[in-house]
Amino acid sequence: MAWKFPLSDIHMGVEEIQAVTRVLESGWLTLGEVTHNFEQQFIESTGSRYAFAVTNATAALHMACLVANLGPGDEVIVPSLTFVATANAVRYVGANPVFADISGQEIFNISPQSIRQKITPKTRAIIVMHYAGFSCDMPEIMQIASEHGLVVIEDAAHAAGSSLDGKALGAWGQTGCFSFFSNKNMTTAEGGMIITQDEGIAERLRVLRSHGMTSMTLDRHKGHAWSYDVTELGFNYRIDEIRASLGIVQLSRLTKNNLRRSQITDLYRRTLTRLVPEIGLPFLDAQGQSAYHIFPILLPGNISRLKFMEAMKANGVQTSIHYPPIHTFSAYRDDYPDIELPVTEDIARREVTLPLYPGLRDDEVLEIVESVAHAFSVSDVGGV
Ligand SMILES: *Cc1c(COP(=O)(O)O)cnc(C)c1O
Repeated sequence: MAWKFPLSDIHMGVEEIQAVTRVLESGWLTLGEVTHNFEQQFIESTGSRYAFAVTNATAALHMACLVANLGPGDEVIVPSLTFVATANAVRYVGANPVFADISGQEIFNISPQSIRQKITPKTRAIIVMHYAGFSCDMPEIMQIASEHGLVVIEDAAHAAGSSLDGKALGAWGQTGCFSFFSNKNMTTAEGGMIITQDEGIAERLRVLRSHGMTSMTLDRHKGHAWSYDVTELGFNYRIDEIRASLGIVQLSRLTKNNLRRSQITDLYRRTLTRLVPEIGLPFLDAQGQSAYHIFPILLPGNISRLKFMEAMKANGVQTSIHYPPIHTFSAYRDDYPDIELPVTEDIARREVTLPLYPGLRDDEVLEIVESVAHAFSVSDVGGV
């Protein structure tokens, strides 16, 4: 169906069309100067030392697990309230995801206290996910990691443009993984980026992205290298020049678009507080600068989420759920028979995500909030 207000929406301007056209006319479509420029600009915008553009964030997360030397028998602490790719990446390398709970109704991010409780002698790493672009408690998590000798990997798929204490999210851990999928804050259609501050890690990422080969097609094309070695089992996780050219333009719009997202979030919060005060609004006291990737709300226990979402749909407003917890999926649940994540399960039952994209006008936000008030009034099933 055609939504009056989709959950997310993209804007491709004349600059994107020109950038793609230039690549198509250049005769060089795969990893080359445009990708290099994109990486260079991402390095500057995140203040990181190295960046590698890849096919998607899932590939970035896979490589993050590989360079952390995770493998069979290792445990990796991850949130369950995240996209399934966060935990799948751990399984790609044969390691075991161990799910930690989130902090609470105000903060849907992984709880440092829960991380501490999940540490065993087998724990090797923690993957954090900055929900909606709001920073996890990185100082505390880095402290836990250093106490126990653990690697920290950041799933920063929501967090392009986010920072904490002036340091970009994604730049805190050993690696930070970004997604440029079509519903993210900046998009290359499919695409992603992995950043690191460590030279040795960077060298492995460069090789792993390209079949484990020591020299690239472009070097050979330019006559810089005639042969190559294969030093380990690598992958083809390279982005292409067409997507990289989109990324350069989209990155140049990121600050402005994230500012608009923050204004929309602010307007949502003010009007919802006034019109439907029973609805919970997380991250009100969040630390740092968020990318405001999505706008989550929390329904009280007496409201049927199904009825609420149906009523929103009847008004042409698309809503979603972030997320069905990973430990409840068929591919996971049998391996976690005794798992208890009470906060995750409570939030996952009551969370609804409202439309948020830079093109949303103020009057449209108010119209969506009126739909929320109406949907709320017809979804009360009593009790808790
Ligand atoms: C989108 C997303 C991913 C996966 O990104 P792709 O680029 O589609 O592979 C991983 N983690 C989170 C939290 C995401 O939102």
